[in-house]
Parts: sequence; C-alpha cells; structure tokens
Amino acid sequence: MPRIAPYESWIQQAEEIEFPNQVFIEGEYVDAAAGQTFPCHSPIDGRCLTQIAAGDSEDVERAVKSARKAFEDGRWSALPPKKRKRILMAFAEKIRAHADELALLETLDMGKPILFSRTHDIPSVVRTIRWYAEAIDKVYGEIAPLGNNELGLITREPLGVVGAVVPWNFPLDMAALKFAPALAAGNSVVLKPAEQSSLTALRIAAIALEAGIPAGVFNVVPGKGPTAGQALGRHMDVDMISFTGSTEVGKLFLKYAGESNMKQVALECGGKTPNIIFADAPDLDVAVRNAVDGIFYNSGQVCTAASRLLVEEKIHGEFMEALLDAARKIEPGDPLNPATEFGTMVDETQTGRVLEYIESGHREGADLLLGGERINQESGGCYITPTVFDKVRREMTIAREEIFGPVLATIAFSDSSNATELANDSQYGLQAAVWTRDLSKAHKMARALKAGMVTINSLDSYKEVMPFGGVKQSGFGRDFSLHGLHKYTQMKSTYIALD
Ligand code: NAD
Repeated sequence: MPRIAPYESWIQQAEEIEFPNQVFIEGEYVDAAAGQTFPCHSPIDGRCLTQIAAGDSEDVERAVKSARKAFEDGRWSALPPKKRKRILMAFAEKIRAHADELALLETLDMGKPILFSRTHDIPSVVRTIRWYAEAIDKVYGEIAPLGNNELGLITREPLGVVGAVVPWNFPLDMAALKFAPALAAGNSVVLKPAEQSSLTALRIAAIALEAGIPAGVFNVVPGKGPTAGQALGRHMDVDMISFTGSTEVGKLFLKYAGESNMKQVALECGGKTPNIIFADAPDLDVAVRNAVDGIFYNSGQVCTAASRLLVEEKIHGEFMEALLDAARKIEPGDPLNPATEFGTMVDETQTGRVLEYIESGHREGADLLLGGERINQESGGCYITPTVFDKVRREMTIAREEIFGPVLATIAFSDSSNATELANDSQYGLQAAVWTRDLSKAHKMARALKAGMVTINSLDSYKEVMPFGGVKQSGFGRDFSLHGLHKYTQMKSTYIALD
C-alpha cells in the first residue's frame, strides 16, 4: 500500500492546488463554445472549488471532429501496437507520479476519503492502463479453416471514435476502465465525466498529451448529462458509447443510438447486490466484516454495494448483533484526514435522495436499528450516518431500488430456495454473494443466481483478469479482462481466393 501524507499536508495542498476547469479538445484547454460554466462544489464543506466549462453540443461536435480526424489520419490508430503500448505505459507512469494531486482532486470533488482515493482509486487507474497497454501487443487474429486454395483472415480493428460517459462514484477509476482499453485498441476517445466529478478527468487529459498520446486522440468534454451527454449519445459520427451510470440513463443511450446512427452501446448500470449469509458460513466474523464494508465503503455509493443483506433465520439474531457492533464503530469524518474511512455523499442532491429512501423505510414499516440521520451539517458537508434496517420485506422500496448510499436492508430467509427466490426478485443482476462452507450448495447457488458476477465467501468482484458486468437491467457488455478489450474492436473477415 502506498505511504500516505499526514492530515496537515493534505489541508495545505488543498489550499494550493489548481483546479482544471476547461474543455480539452485537440490537445488544448479551451472555454466552452457558448462560454457557459457551472459551479463545482466540494461536498466536504460546500465550498465552490471552481467554475467548470459547461460543454454542449457544439463542444461535442468539435471534440468528435478532432477525434475522427486523429483516427482517420492514423496518428494513433495506425501505430504498431508495441508503440501504443510504450506510450500508454508512460501515461500510467505519469499518473502514478501525479498520484497525490489526482487523489486530492478526487477527494475534494466527491468527498471520498483521501485514504481510499490515494491507496485504491489512483493505483487502480494505473493498473488498468498498464494491463491494457501490456495486453495490446499480445492479441492475435485468426485464420479460418478453409481449403488450400483460399485464405480467410479474421482480424480485429478499432471501432473509430468512442464516447465514454461515466459516473461520479469512482470518477477516474471508472473512466480508465473505458479509455484504457479503447485507446489500447487504437480508437480515439471523447470522455464525458459526470458533472459532479469532472476534475480528475480534465487533469489527466494534459497528462496524456505529455505522455505522448497525440493531440485529438483523447478529448474531455465536461458538462451536464442532458446536454453534453445526450449530444455524444446522438452524434452521427460516434461509433460506440461506453456508459457506466444509472439504469435510467443507460436506457436513454439505447434510445439515442436507435434514433441516430445505430452506434454500439455498452452499459454498466445499477445494482442491488444480495449478500446471502448461510449459518454454515466458514467464518461468521469475516462475513460480518464484509457485510459492513460491502455496504459502507465509499458511503454506499458503489454499483456492487451489498445493499440487500439476506441472513438465514437461525443465525439472524447473533449476526445482526455482531454487525451492529461493527457498524457502530464507523465514524464519519473529514475525508482529508487519512484516518477517515467514511466520508461524505457526493452532493446535496444525492444526500436528499438517500434521506428520502430512509424516510420511505420508516414509512413502509422496516425496523431502523442504526443511523438514518444527516450529521455535521454545520460543516457545510454532506454527511449521512451508516444506516441499518431490519425486518425489511421484499416489496419495500428500500429492498427494490438502488439507494446508492449507506443504507442496508436486511431480510431473513429460511433455506436456499427461499434465499435464491428473494435474491433474484430484482430488476438488477450485477453481483450476488454467497457465504457457505458447503461446496455443492455454493455451486448450486452460483448457477441459480441471476447476476453477472457471483462471489463465494467474498465480496470482491473486481479482478482485472475477470470480466465485470451485469445481466438484466444492470446492463450488458463487460469491463476488465480481454473481453473488455474486444468490445472496443470490430471483427473483419477478409477472404482471399488463391487461385
Ligand atoms: P447517472 O446515470 O445519473 O450519470 C452517469 C453519466 O450519465 C454522467 O456522466 C451524466 O452526466 C450522464 N447523463 C445523465 N443524464 C443524461 C442524459 N439525459 N443523457 C446523457 N447522459 C446523461 O449516474 P450517476 O448518478 O453519475 O452514478 C450512479 C449510477 O452509476 C448508479 O446507478 C450506479 O449503480 C451506476 N454505476 C454502475 C457501475 C457498474 O460498473 N455497473 C459502476 C459505477 C456506477
């Protein structure tokens, strides 16, 4: 784990840091064409950090034009993979060298504890870029099984211009999962960060240029979803949209594609992970610790947050007691303090939304065992306490909708088939977790659960070497692994008659 600077140092750096705030097109920072901006508030204290350029359709038009020109003239797309690899490795190295600055921008922008932005998010970005850089000169085409007088080549080509639209919960980490494989495959990219968290995306645009990624290949257009995001989704010259965000907006991108040029769409959307604890879990203390981290990490603002806790009836009482003991120890605090493990919500809007969900839990008759309040309001920050509901019924809003906050909904179950039925009773299917030492029960559950990823005796589904993504309304397409690279390519079949 990287060493992390002390609290005072982060406070001082926060006073001195510069905030990137312009659109990045063709290798240059420029104002939005219409000259509009929007304020960037820190959820730590409500302070306005800077005014960000509000990109709109004109800026998207310029960015796509620049990306298309770069793609067609081959300044990146036609480089030998070995060369793209070298430049991407240099890009990763420069990000590593700027890790403190980037982690601080992320924390100030969205309230994630500096401990995690510095030791998880930025190192993860570096790993992702390196992984795809390393992969790109090891991917081969195929030769079709044909007769001696003919030759069939199956090659993979970049798609062209990829629009990457990302959320605010792991701003740079999620962005890297798109731009790293897209760039490695030879595409040009237009990245649209979430309006709540544009800073790191804007900063790394210049770092990419310094590392040798040619101007025009990597463009960043900050702005609101319905303007900049929609313009990218509807653009006639964008070949693919790679989206991570809510299910609601994911559906809009399908519509935009259908109403424009039928561009490819890959969707990583919402989730409502069922975390299923059987009485025969190998170690109930470990299961408790994971259940707590699984919902409260990043203040619950995680697509795979283990927000539905399903506990076998016969251990329900003791499990909840241990869980409450652990959850009571979590203290929300200043995200700039490296001792803080639980920071703020991303902004006022999300804070309000989560409080409404907590209210609905009360109204619909769930038992509030812990938290449920907004605190530290005098700081100007967006703090909500870790919240645990018990005796939740499957039809309640907090059991069905993705809250995207630190709110746990607990339901007791009787046996495996009851657990499976409860777990699958959801519009989402991103991840499911099962805790049992019974191997055949684990395998049967893994088969029966409708999720893109199932974890057994673990909640860790983020592995570079394993595809990550959902089924049902959690989306389709996979990030990570070579599958996550292939989706930024298209297959071409070339048939050659040899006689
Ligand atoms: P969101 O859907 O509101 O926004 C995501 C992106 O879409 C942002 O860049 C936003 O500006 C843009 N957008 C919003 N409205 C738009 C519109 N009308 N047209 C075009 N673009 C638009 O999501 P969010 O609130 O930023 O993030 C939270 C969501 O992201 C949660 O649902 C979470 O589960 C999901 N998420 C999923 C994964 C995954 O890998 N499956 C990972 C992280 C987050």
